[in-house]
Amino acid sequence: MSQSTESESRKLLGRLRDALAEDSAGQARLDRITHLIADSIQSEVCSIYLFRDAETLELCATEGLNPEAVHKTRMRLGEGLVGRVAKSSSVVNTPNAPQEPGFRYMPETGEEIFSSFLGIPIQRVGERLGVLVVQSKAAREFSEDEVYALEVVAMVVAEMAELGAFVGEGAALSALHQQPVMIRGTIGQEGAAEGHVYLHEPRVVVTNPIADDPHAELERLGDAIDTLRVSVDQLLSTATTGEKEHVQVLETYRMFANSRSWRRRMEEDIARGLTAEAAVEKEQSVARARLEQSPDAYLRDRLHDLDDLSNRLLRILTGQGSDTGAEIPDDPILVARNIGPAELLDYGRALKGIILEEGSVGSHAAIVARALAIPLIIQAKRITSEALNGDRILVDGDQGIAHLRPEDSVSMAFRDKAAMQAQAVERYQSIRDLPAQARCGTTVQLHMNAGLMADLPSLPTSGAEGVGLFRTELQFLIRNQMPRRAELAAIYTRVMDAAGDKPVVFRTLDIGSDKVLPYMKPHDEPNPALGWRAIRVGLDKPGVMRMQLQALIRAANGRPLTIMFPFVAQFNEYREARAYVEGELHRESRLGHPLPSAIKIGAMLETPSLAYAPKQFFEMTDFISIGGNDLKQFFFAADRENERVRRRYDTLNVSFLSFIERIVERCADTQTPLSFCGEDAGRPVEALCFAAMGLRALSMRPASIGPVKSLIRRVDLNEAKSIINNARESGEQTVRPAINEWLNAQDIIV
Ligand code: PEP
Ligand code: MG
Repeated sequence: MSQSTESESRKLLGRLRDALAEDSAGQARLDRITHLIADSIQSEVCSIYLFRDAETLELCATEGLNPEAVHKTRMRLGEGLVGRVAKSSSVVNTPNAPQEPGFRYMPETGEEIFSSFLGIPIQRVGERLGVLVVQSKAAREFSEDEVYALEVVAMVVAEMAELGAFVGEGAALSALHQQPVMIRGTIGQEGAAEGHVYLHEPRVVVTNPIADDPHAELERLGDAIDTLRVSVDQLLSTATTGEKEHVQVLETYRMFANSRSWRRRMEEDIARGLTAEAAVEKEQSVARARLEQSPDAYLRDRLHDLDDLSNRLLRILTGQGSDTGAEIPDDPILVARNIGPAELLDYGRALKGIILEEGSVGSHAAIVARALAIPLIIQAKRITSEALNGDRILVDGDQGIAHLRPEDSVSMAFRDKAAMQAQAVERYQSIRDLPAQARCGTTVQLHMNAGLMADLPSLPTSGAEGVGLFRTELQFLIRNQMPRRAELAAIYTRVMDAAGDKPVVFRTLDIGSDKVLPYMKPHDEPNPALGWRAIRVGLDKPGVMRMQLQALIRAANGRPLTIMFPFVAQFNEYREARAYVEGELHRESRLGHPLPSAIKIGAMLETPSLAYAPKQFFEMTDFISIGGNDLKQFFFAADRENERVRRRYDTLNVSFLSFIERIVERCADTQTPLSFCGEDAGRPVEALCFAAMGLRALSMRPASIGPVKSLIRRVDLNEAKSIINNARESGEQTVRPAINEWLNAQDIIV
């Protein structure tokens, strides 16, 4: 790059800044920019196209094309050369535009006479704003220097758009940030919420993209990179070798922080006239665009790392921390790329909803959100770049859709739906203290699932008869280090105190698979769901399990205690685990601690094998609870975390229901109490079918108790059973259509 092109480029930016500083309306500014660029690069045409909505580009200003076409010429994303630039987020530079694939002739602009075309994406970190185009009659390819200079200009235009510089009369605009947007993600937790966006880590706002003094900017960049390096080194020195993945990420950070080419590119941007932070952002945008296009998972991960590192560098340069002092609205909907469970708990129940750009159904954050009953959408692409603090937003957790800055009609429909749900909740309150007794006289016990102290207040309000599943691992997942026995005993005491006379089934630590403790040595397993998890870990390394059993016995402090072991696959696993409980009871008694007044030790049936365990297993267990989430995934060999296959097999599939019936029969033979505590227990139609198959206890999230009870009270379970039997006999794959038809015939709408 020559000195002269550098100074040309700086001169253009200087003129741009002066133009932008003028107190003119948005449209006038845009017109001025196109004029300046055409003039300085000596091409006949310069045009700016901006997004009208997420799919449509509009010609917003031009020097050289027919001015009548401004705000009239539009194209869809991907359409024509301009649409191609926008869609691919990459430059198109051609001496012969009409011969390019995708060229679209637009008579209103008089475009056909221009042969050369250079289109540059206008983008801000991962967010497409529009396209900057220069064209000339002479057939020539624009030089690398020219492309580069215009990329720098496009960056400034993007920053200005972000700051609202073009929002004014007549400009269609990058008012993208004022347009309604619908974003489709994946359901993390059902429920509906309406509120205002609160960004967990707001974007750094670059207010000064154009620099006066490149030397000073180079120095600022150098200092910031030094600070960044030191902070990464510090993080590395405090990370323990046990945290393998964490260390690997930090090593990558260090590699990037020391990367010469990354630094050189930013220095070149500064030489062209950008400030240090604008240069960081420019390179971050380029990397983000590549990230979005790349099918290679490894490369995407690395580009993600670079993205995070760029954010750190920006925060150093601008002094903007993650806390910008923005006030949390009264009805906050948290928007984040991702969030850890501990951070989520800090916000607690104040949140009305959560939308994550990443995340997975089984992530710890999702588990916590579910425990807090906060509607959650995950995998909501682009949400962090589209949403601004304070934007109105609707969270439709039932469908996994977020409506950002919704139109009034959408808000109204959403509210109608929410009002209907609220009415239903009121109806459920009226039956709260009544039993879930079906019309045939059979009663089903309804319990709630819990995992945090925060869940306990739902015990009286939901009408649950007890806690049928207390997932103890949440207390382990939300900490940075292994909790101590005394801490656990204090938590379990509070849980039992809060439950009063109602029973609580404590499930021992269920880790492994997707639930990885950050402070435990990770084990690379090809298939963790089938791997070293739950009771397998407990029996192989009994230290933690024994500590937990001691804590439970101490917390019971003479009260009844119920313990359940997860993921038992064969009899002797249960027998060994039970022996540990007995051993700890002895030990505690020797140490002078009071023993529980009664103790029940149960097993979770989560693998098909256990349904065929010897009779002695059923005789020995005090109770069994079907962990339907895991059982279903193993029964159908369909990963519960994999959206592609998860919904493929209906829970009301006749094979699965027959299998449940078999488990009911085996438990009936030995009079072993049986319950079902997977998520399906909380779905009214599923719950009704389980009850028809003979289950007499179900445990579910508190919000499901009302709907499940309401349905059970309206039906005859014997009739339901004969509908199921008929469907089975007539060769149906699932009984769902038959059950729905039967409910409809009774005017029961679920
Ligand atoms: C289950 O598998 O159904 C269950 C209740 O356990 P978890 O969802 O915690 O694996
Ligand atoms: Mg399970």
